[in-house]
Amino acid sequence: MSLQDIQSRIAAAEAQAGRAPGAVSLIAVSKVQPDARVRAVLEAGHRVFGENRVQEAAGKWPGFRDTFGPVELHLLGPLQTNKARQAMELFDIIHSVDRPKLARTLARLAQELGHCPGLFVQVNTGAEPQKAGILPADADAMIAECRALDLPLLGLMCIPPVDEDASAHFQMLADIATRNGLTGLSMGMSDDFETAIAHGATHVRVGSAIFGARHSA
Ligand SMILES: *Cc1c(COP(=O)(O)O)cnc(C)c1O
Repeated sequence: MSLQDIQSRIAAAEAQAGRAPGAVSLIAVSKVQPDARVRAVLEAGHRVFGENRVQEAAGKWPGFRDTFGPVELHLLGPLQTNKARQAMELFDIIHSVDRPKLARTLARLAQELGHCPGLFVQVNTGAEPQKAGILPADADAMIAECRALDLPLLGLMCIPPVDEDASAHFQMLADIATRNGLTGLSMGMSDDFETAIAHGATHVRVGSAIFGARHSA
C-alpha cells in the first residue's frame, strides 16, 4: 500500500457513494511510525496527519512543520485535562472530546488562548467499558453542552469494536449526527475506510495501510 493507493481508493469510494470528489479528508495516522516513513509521506506532498498522544506529537511535529511548512494536525487519542492547553497549541483538530469536564476545560482555555481547535465528540458506539467516548444515550446532551459552551463543534467520531461489523456503528454515528444537525463524521481506519465512506465519513483515519505495520508503542 501507499499514499497514492489509499487516495485512489478514497476517490473510488466517494464516487461509488455518490459523494463529491474531495468530500473525504484523509488523515494519515503517524503514531509510533519511524520518522523516515513520516518524512516520505510529507515529501509526497501530504499535509494532514493524526497522532494519538500529545507528548509524542510535541516531540516530532514542531520539527516537521519547520521543515515542511504548515501541516494540519489531528489529535485522535484520549486527552487528559492537564494536557489540554498543550494540545490546543499543537493540534488543529481534536477528535476525542469524550466528557463534559473536558469540554468545559477546552472552553475555558479557548477564552484564555483566543482560539480553539475544531472539535469532534467521540461516541463509544459499542458501549465498551475499556473504550473512551460518550455513551450513545448521552450523546445528544453532550453535543448540546458543547454548543452551550460555544465550542467549534465539527462532528462526531467513533472507533467500532474490533470484533463486530463496523457498518452498524458507522450508521449509528451518522444517525446521531443527523438528528443533531452535525455534518462531520470521523470514522473508518485501514480495514474499513471504504465502508465508512459509504456511510458518510468526512474524515478517515488511516495508519498502517499507508505507513506499514506499527512496531510496539
Ligand atoms: C491508530 C488509530 C487509527 C489508525 O489505525 P490503522 O488501523 O493503522 O489505520 C485511527 N484512529 C485511531 C483513533 C487510532 O488510534
